[in-house]
Amino acid sequence: MKKKYIIALDQGTTSSRSIVVNENGNIIAISQQEFKQIFPKSGWVEHNPLEILETQLATLKEVITKANISVSEIAGIGITNQRETTVIWNKKTGNPIYNAIVWQDKRTADFCNALKERNLENHVRKTTGLVIDSYFSATKIHWILNNLPNAKEDAEKGDLLFGTIDSWLLWNLSERKVHATDYSNASRTMLYDIKNLCWDETLLNELEIPKSLLPKVNPSSFHFGDYTLEGTKIPIAGIAGDQQAALFGQTCFTKGEAKNTYGTGCFMLMNTGEDIEFSKNGLLTTIAWGINNKIYYALEGSVFIAGAAIQWLRDGLEIIKDAKESEKFAKQVIGENPVYVVPAFAGLGAPYWNMYARGAVFGLTRDTGKNHLIKATLDSLAYQTKDVLDIMQKDSNVTLTSLKVDGGASKNNTLMQFQANILNTTVERPEVTETTALGAAYLAGLYIGLWKQEDIIAKRKINTLFLPSFSSEKREKLYKKWRKSVQSTIDWID
Ligand code: ADP
Repeated sequence: MKKKYIIALDQGTTSSRSIVVNENGNIIAISQQEFKQIFPKSGWVEHNPLEILETQLATLKEVITKANISVSEIAGIGITNQRETTVIWNKKTGNPIYNAIVWQDKRTADFCNALKERNLENHVRKTTGLVIDSYFSATKIHWILNNLPNAKEDAEKGDLLFGTIDSWLLWNLSERKVHATDYSNASRTMLYDIKNLCWDETLLNELEIPKSLLPKVNPSSFHFGDYTLEGTKIPIAGIAGDQQAALFGQTCFTKGEAKNTYGTGCFMLMNTGEDIEFSKNGLLTTIAWGINNKIYYALEGSVFIAGAAIQWLRDGLEIIKDAKESEKFAKQVIGENPVYVVPAFAGLGAPYWNMYARGAVFGLTRDTGKNHLIKATLDSLAYQTKDVLDIMQKDSNVTLTSLKVDGGASKNNTLMQFQANILNTTVERPEVTETTALGAAYLAGLYIGLWKQEDIIAKRKINTLFLPSFSSEKREKLYKKWRKSVQSTIDWID
């Protein structure tokens, strides 16, 4: 039988999903299972690695049945995963020695401050492209080794293995034969030298992490190993972290192309080609992927509160029933909206970097109604995106001609049109917004030879192009007001 399907395993923060993609890059079936979020203490977030594995395998089997395909028709598997989340397991027993510590977990914040006091910030930035933060894997590994009985000794004996979720899945899928990851995931550990492509000795020493713990790092499109199902070997041929996979799935293959994902927060990544660009404004530098013996880099910036602000309208203010309804009300605001909402619920990220700022609403008058407030909240997603994109363009010396979008809130036409207007850039929404899974499938299919990059670009369908229509005066006037609103939230703090 012809091998014409790729299965993407999309291991996310709240659910494990498996997706069947056909030769035309169309999704023909999806299967999804949620798993438990464990909060042992305030600021701590964990997952059970065995539950992650179980739900992933269950959806993999389920999706094959759902798509009504046979195992012999599967050309390969691609994996994409929640990034930075850390698992350490014993290679003899196969058991994790502790729960997975999730990227959101803040338990190592004090240790991160201690690393800053040791003047490691500059080294971390120059070597890994990151900033010292509990978000990344390094300090989570350190915590597990230093807080579990015998962990350090076992690690030194070479009995333990570390992996981000992709490595954990790969090791298990390959019947414990392959301990590896890809460049994009390695670059999120805060231990990987993104220029020399090796684990950084200085950081390993500083964090007392034995090298034997670490996976081999391979290109993102590569034959990592095989998963045997019903006696048939299926090659695992693509791996990338979720945001990088989405950049790939949006076919941002060349330097200067960028995507923005509008989820709970926003994640913006720009392909900077084979050059490492270090940001002067607090953006992260990361490896986008390794493919065809080349390494592509990306600049990454995020907005903390995006779709979460829409959830606030729904759950906090209770002025909309669901997120989708926001569009109906926003559309009723005719002309310029005098109201500005700054959703600095948890401080402000790039380019302001103020952890103490808090949210505010500006421009209220006697005739302000709920429509204005809803429109202003949607606008805040677009303004925050502009804040990040402006510094990204400055840091990379690239002027963007089109922004590719995905994620839940990208379905909102009013928001996307306002985004195009305020950026003065075309906003392009693809037909298939499951870009993360598509990216993993593409990486695998390219290695196997199911597609070429040109085919992928040719097959990609655009759903809607939003063209900018504001005059420069109008755009500048509105954006100036936004910056003034943000400044006022900062000035409000004692
Ligand atoms: P995540 O992966 O972070 O859970 P999703 O990509 O599933 O996020 O997007 C969900 C987010 O998008 C929610 O925060 C929700 O409030 C917002 N959202 C979903 N649909 C819309 C819409 N039509 N308009 C505005 N916001 C939306």
